[in-house]
Amino acid sequence: MKKQVVIIGGGFGGLRAARALKASPVDVTLIDRRNYPLFQPLLYQVATGSLSPGDVAAPLRSVLSRQKNTRVLLGDVVDVDPASRRVVLADGAEFPYDALIVAAGSQSSYYGHDNWRQWAPSLKSVEEATTIRHKIFYAFEVAERLSDPAQRRAWLTFVIVGAGATGVELAGALAEIARQTLKNDFRSIHPEEARIILIDGAPRVLPPFPEDLSRKAERSLTKLGVQVKTGVMVKQIDKEGLVFATQNNAGTDERLDARTVIWAGGVTVPAFAKTLAKRMNAATDKTGRIKVNADLTVPGHPETFVIGDLAVASGPDGKPLPGVAQVAMQQGTYSAKVIVRRLRGQKAPPPFKYLDKGNLAVIGRASPGPDLQSRLTAHHRRRCFGLQLRSGDRAGDHCAPEGDSIRTVMTTAGSR
Ligand SMILES: Cc1cc2nc3c(=O)[nH]c(=O)nc-3n(C[C@H](O)[C@H](O)[C@H](O)COP(=O)(O)OP(=O)(O)OC[C@H]3O[C@@H](n4cnc5c(N)ncnc54)[C@H](O)[C@@H]3O)c2cc1C
Repeated sequence: MKKQVVIIGGGFGGLRAARALKASPVDVTLIDRRNYPLFQPLLYQVATGSLSPGDVAAPLRSVLSRQKNTRVLLGDVVDVDPASRRVVLADGAEFPYDALIVAAGSQSSYYGHDNWRQWAPSLKSVEEATTIRHKIFYAFEVAERLSDPAQRRAWLTFVIVGAGATGVELAGALAEIARQTLKNDFRSIHPEEARIILIDGAPRVLPPFPEDLSRKAERSLTKLGVQVKTGVMVKQIDKEGLVFATQNNAGTDERLDARTVIWAGGVTVPAFAKTLAKRMNAATDKTGRIKVNADLTVPGHPETFVIGDLAVASGPDGKPLPGVAQVAMQQGTYSAKVIVRRLRGQKAPPPFKYLDKGNLAVIGRASPGPDLQSRLTAHHRRRCFGLQLRSGDRAGDHCAPEGDSIRTVMTTAGSR
């Protein structure tokens, strides 16, 4: 019997690992709780109406349909037994493995305030992106029918909490909707009067980027009409808006009436990761990510690899690698390579080394200027699937077999 490789998660890392095992003498079982990989870098465009959900998701099944040694299963993994080498799904089904690749990604964190989620959706799934889209366009519609200036102002105030790449890109796109896309569409309101406020507890936007780029990004946002408030701590979010305190106002709370609040704050690990860490006695960082060896295996479990957003792997400077698609994809390829070499009785490859291809945040369509196309191309190539996308291309075009149209048959485990 062929060796069994189980991959948990068919996102950037898991999918890449599966593809790297294509020609290997192993049986691959890829389990995901949704039946499509999500192109998260373009989710903000779904949230702001410039792409539809089908443009950022393609069925896993068709992506891997020609890969004969691989089966795709819809399922929610809830447990793992390292002693008997089995993964367990929520419905009780069990799958044995000789090698396990865990690529379960991350999820939004409300820093212990999970009740804020109902008022401030985050941008991590297609469902959340379409909820945000509804909230944004609904707000303009409601404002059009209101005559009370204070009410109108509240409906035309959009707050994005979190000025990382997602928050910055979302704020830029939202400003463009208000100032350009909807400019002539209403009779009573002026969409360009909408206030788009981007707030963050850090002293500057895009904290992981170098300071000069951070300043540049802030200038671009301001030019687009986004109000940037840094050093601001959110204390409460409710139906009507939010309460925050700025670091220099001696702890005085301020209330901001805003009917649309979007959460682009932190990330944490999915619930399954906590179980995995417990079962494998693995060390984690403060967000719950699992610390892995230089070959991406869990210490004491050479058959188990943890990759992508869920892993803490160190870069050459000793700092943890960032939670970006390229890291996940390169780790997917690497873990598959280790498995194949072991199978062939060959020497292990050198430790995983991340090849940093650079980062870029796209702030509004207009902001990149005349070289928009090349920058968008560079953006997608560098930060997304590592593919050359042309203007108008869709993520799915590169996931589906050539010539196939995109079938947006999307579902999740538990939604049958
Ligand atoms: C809005 C947004 C914008 C982003 N923009 C960029 C960008 O521009 N550039 C960039 O490089 N990165 C970007 N990222 C980050 C990038 O998307 C992640 O780093 C990348 O997706 C990580 O890949 P992964 O394989 O670890 O996880 P994912 O791609 O998230 O895949 C995880 C998969 O595991 C599945 N899963 C989770 N738990 C279970 C379970 N228990 N059972 C079964 N399946 C499970 C999920 O359904 C999912 O399909 C962005 C992220 C977001 C949210």
